[in-house]
Amino acid sequence: MTFDLIITNGTVVTADATYQADIAIREGKIAALLPPRSAFPAGPSLDADGCYVLPGAIDGHVHLHMHTGAGYTADDWCTGTMAAALGGVTALVDFVETNPDESLTDALAKRLDETRDAVIDFGLHMTIQPDEHPSDGVPRRVSATRLAQIPAAYDAGCATFKLYMAYPGFQVQDGDLFRALCAVRTVSGLACIHAENGDVIEALRQAACSPNAASGATAIHHARTRPSINEYEAVTRAVMCAEVSGARALIFHIGCEHAARVVADAKLRGLSNVFGETCPHYLVLGEDMLERPDGRLWICAPPLRPQADQDVMWGMLSSRVLDIVSTDHCPFTRAQKDRGKDDFRRTPGGVPGIETRLGLLHEFGVRRGRLSLNDWARVCCTRPAELHGFGNKGHIAVGYDADLVVFDPSLCKTLSPGSLHSAIDWSAYDGVECHGWPRDVVSRGNVIVHAQQFSGTRGQGRFIKRSF
Ligand SMILES: [Zn+2]
Repeated sequence: MTFDLIITNGTVVTADATYQADIAIREGKIAALLPPRSAFPAGPSLDADGCYVLPGAIDGHVHLHMHTGAGYTADDWCTGTMAAALGGVTALVDFVETNPDESLTDALAKRLDETRDAVIDFGLHMTIQPDEHPSDGVPRRVSATRLAQIPAAYDAGCATFKLYMAYPGFQVQDGDLFRALCAVRTVSGLACIHAENGDVIEALRQAACSPNAASGATAIHHARTRPSINEYEAVTRAVMCAEVSGARALIFHIGCEHAARVVADAKLRGLSNVFGETCPHYLVLGEDMLERPDGRLWICAPPLRPQADQDVMWGMLSSRVLDIVSTDHCPFTRAQKDRGKDDFRRTPGGVPGIETRLGLLHEFGVRRGRLSLNDWARVCCTRPAELHGFGNKGHIAVGYDADLVVFDPSLCKTLSPGSLHSAIDWSAYDGVECHGWPRDVVSRGNVIVHAQQFSGTRGQGRFIKRSF
């Protein structure tokens, strides 16, 4: 048998095992796992001696070319997916947002038009947001018509549905959240929930920025107006809706101990349909970043939390209370962030991270003894594939897509805007040294990163229709 590519001499790291093997690839799929140094016909090979070979990392939460009040997020589908690839990512999931007057599938078609330059495979979450116009013209309810479109969106490949419990324009009322979860349950989809109590946050923000407020409008007040008890309350409500509806629900970007404990409790009670996601910034960066003069750069929601929460979050990752780590990559330039110089409410929320997840979790997780190599592969690669419905990805086994990362633990990378590839002029992790970094990346059998250089092709990424 001949192969298109063989990755030789590497240490294979999966969610449940670490072993030596050569990986043979044919027609974009893993064709064989061979004992190390097997004899095979001469052909293209990649020497992974001294390196880990992982399933390609999967990022279930990014915002490329997303329209906001501060303009589009800074990465388009080309720069964003290239940066992802250079960080070891072989598939990601972005979002479709919807206007009240278009159907979910029409919104998907429009969004797909924007993705043509993707260099890695991708899926799209379908956002269910208010679409019904009451008398004042501001949509606040999710219509029955909208919910009836969920099966068509699922059939079109959007098997996961985003719901917001905060943000004017996106926030759904409790009844609508529950009705949406029931509809998601009917198609066996997955609901992804942004869980914060939006009504209370809006009141706190107004009070903090009122002319006679003593506090002022600097970046730290972003965190103070989104206390962790607020996140806790919303996660509790989301879990209740998941439990009563029976829908599978992933709580997005859990950032604090309070909120993580709600998911821990749900799992302890035997709920098998509740899942938790966290992000590298909640594991590595503390709330004190917001106290810096340029603290607005780190404004994101939920906000960064005190250092004490981080140790708990690491523990919950290794104990599987939290299922996956995604980036919530939402890049804005300094100029965009500077809109909120005098009022934190005007700063667009989000931090970049599409390229740094695998490296940061290796540095702060594996190297510091908080995660095993297998935990690392599980939370970055395998569980994201399973939870988000990428049936052919996330595993190193015959028949799966040949999406692989060769991670070299002897590389040293200092993070900075110059050493990373997102289209922004700052880094959330400036100066952090990562010992170990993705060296080569293979996407469906094609080497798209070679010796840390991008070698793929614009437009090579495919929209993956996901299902469960
Ligand atoms: Zn997000």
